[in-house]
Amino acid sequence: MDLGIAGKWALVCGASRGLGFGCAQALVREGVHVLMVARRAEVLQAAAAELEADPLRPASATVQFVAADITTVEGREAVFALRRDFDIVVTNAGGPPPGDFRDWDRTAWIKALDANMLTPIELIKACVDGMMGRGFGRIVNITSGAVKAPIDVLGLSNGARSGLTGFVAGASRSKLAGQGVTINNLLPGAFDTARLKALMAGAAQKSGVNIGVAIEARKKTIPAQRFGTPEEFGAICAFLCSQHAGFINGQNVLADGGAYPGTY
Ligand code: NAD
Repeated sequence: MDLGIAGKWALVCGASRGLGFGCAQALVREGVHVLMVARRAEVLQAAAAELEADPLRPASATVQFVAADITTVEGREAVFALRRDFDIVVTNAGGPPPGDFRDWDRTAWIKALDANMLTPIELIKACVDGMMGRGFGRIVNITSGAVKAPIDVLGLSNGARSGLTGFVAGASRSKLAGQGVTINNLLPGAFDTARLKALMAGAAQKSGVNIGVAIEARKKTIPAQRFGTPEEFGAICAFLCSQHAGFINGQNVLADGGAYPGTY
């Protein structure tokens, strides 16, 4: 299926690895020009080089990158100094650390809110009017399955991302919906990335279980009996960014191999 977005410009945050990289890769393969953002220049440069060398990348699709912390004003200014007229924005940043809510002070909460709620809102604010003016826009926020089924040790994530979800529910149904702009949230369950491995290693160590055993046990809790891949996550993201997805708006799209046990 031709997604009809070749030649569009996309901003993909947290794009040097994991789910953000999967999204950048899927968009580039559709002929979209992608500006990749992550903090560490050398890792990001290697990721951009990988996309440039991708045999599935149409020659017309360019790959650019800027090393910046997207959760800061300076980081976002560095991005917008390059361009602001993005047709597609994929918001994403690292998830907050796990822990006991008794240990989180105001600083920990502000950091989580900055990364997983206020930064996506700032990016939406910066890009949405231009999108409306051009009559096309796709914003996809990478959130978490924890928005639907909270994970006790990830309280910072549960709270911050729920705030973003509430904001998006309203903003996506505002005037922008009539101007060709959609905002959706894409909710990962367990995907095979560095973040998942780090969280599982921490949990395994705490309970004195071998990491390999813990991973296999976790996979068994998922009806699909496996973790998702960044590539399949990217494909869903690219579809939400496509011309075909213009009537999907304000949704929370869960990709979790069937792990969420609810009917709705
Ligand atoms: P990851 O750690 O593998 O990759 C995160 C990417 O974001 C990296 O490229 C990193 O450099 C970049 N990044 C982090 N903080 C940044 C910042 N401040 N500015 C710019 N770039 C930044 O993580 P992932 O597994 O790909 O997860 C992506 C998001 O999805 C996270 O918020 C995570 O909490 C959430 N999530 C992941 C899973 C999963 O199973 N992998 C499940 C639920 C939610």
